[in-house]
Formats: sequence, C-alpha cells, structure tokens
Amino acid sequence: MLNSQINELMQTQQVQEALDILQEEAAEVIQAVSKIRRFGWDNYHPSTPEQHNLEHLEEELGDMQAMIEILMELGIVSWGNVTVAKRAKIEKLKKWSNIFKNPDQSA
Ligand SMILES: [Mg+2]
Repeated sequence: MLNSQINELMQTQQVQEALDILQEEAAEVIQAVSKIRRFGWDNYHPSTPEQHNLEHLEEELGDMQAMIEILMELGIVSWGNVTVAKRAKIEKLKKWSNIFKNPDQSA
C-alpha cells in the first residue's frame, strides 16, 4: 500500500477508534498480569468473584487479539508482517529466555 493510502486510512474515525481501543486493551492485559503476579492466579476481584485472575487475563488477551484482527481487517497491519514478527520473537525467546527450556536445564 502507498504511504498516501496509509495516511488517508489512518485518519479515518474507524482506524483512530480501533487504535484507541487496542491501546486500552493492551493496558488491561498489563493490569491483568499484574494482578496475577501480586495476588495469585486463583484470586479474584471482590466485585467479580465468579472470575478468577487467570480467567480475567484470558478475557483481556481475547479483547486484545480481537483488536489486532480488526486492524488487519481494516488494512492497517498485515497478517503476514505480524506473523513474521511473531515467529522472530519466538526464535529470540528460544535463544535469550528460559521459556522453552526443560525446567531441569535452567539455572
Ligand atoms: Mg478488555
């Protein structure tokens, strides 16, 4: 897509709103992770005892995933580029984190 086409698309109310909501959902994911780290996965907010913190994280991840997919449908981000970035991130994590290592091999 041409830069001028992207500029035009970026200024639409639809795209502005989608970016605003993506930003909010990303913040809600951060908050949900923080609640798990501070209070535990099986704790819950007093106003929502039917949903523990891990279920709340799942909800927020779903909200964020929805916004990513909407930005793809609007033509703002491409599925291909996001997929390339995702695969590159996984490869970096294999090299620079312990996430994929056997627990016995860490340390
Ligand atoms: Mg949300």
